[in-house]
Amino acid sequence: MSKIVLASGNKGKLKEFSELFAEFDTEVIPQSTFNLVEAEETGLTFVENAIIKARHACELTGLPAISDDSGIEVDALNGQPGIYSARYSGPNATAQKNLQALLDALINTPEAKRTARYQCVIAFMRHAKDPTPLICQASWEGTLLTAPKGDGGFGYDPIFWVAAYQCTAAELTAEQKHAISHRGKAIRQFISQFQRLNQT
Ligand code: IMP
Repeated sequence: MSKIVLASGNKGKLKEFSELFAEFDTEVIPQSTFNLVEAEETGLTFVENAIIKARHACELTGLPAISDDSGIEVDALNGQPGIYSARYSGPNATAQKNLQALLDALINTPEAKRTARYQCVIAFMRHAKDPTPLICQASWEGTLLTAPKGDGGFGYDPIFWVAAYQCTAAELTAEQKHAISHRGKAIRQFISQFQRLNQT
């Protein structure tokens, strides 16, 4: 069985990755196992930050690495917080503070204009100097409520309304979320491309 380091310290992402990789014949090892200091996300795009994180994990472990850079784009805020979703409420950001900061920013935004989407970019690098990282990208459309609902998922899920299920992302089961989420779709793309590459 091959080994891939997962370049993320986000507990919500780690849980979803391990669920999504459960049937995949590769051991995905969280970077916390190696006590890595997290990479500084200096990119201006999801793709750049995903590569920075994967390269950092490859450099420090000598193993292939996979990373996820994701966030929520809000149309009424011209796409913010986007790549800054994890840091939206400032230097001591927590998921709770970020969610509240987003609700505050949208306080005067009517329901019809509260459209948003999650973005997820996955980068897989075989080694730190890999010139052809495998990049997979997917998004998930929703609208934002004015108050949180549900306690599943993580991050902005309690205000992310999913029209297809008439509930928030935090009220979906893990399986329902994986079937339609930005991360679920990007990881499935990754797995099929990775398996194809390994067969050729
Ligand atoms: P990153 O670790 O820099 O990629 O930031 C990801 C951030 O985007 C998370 O900390 C959340 O704020 C947000 N985010 C990404 N995916 C999700 C999701 O599936 N649910 C809720 N929030 C998410």
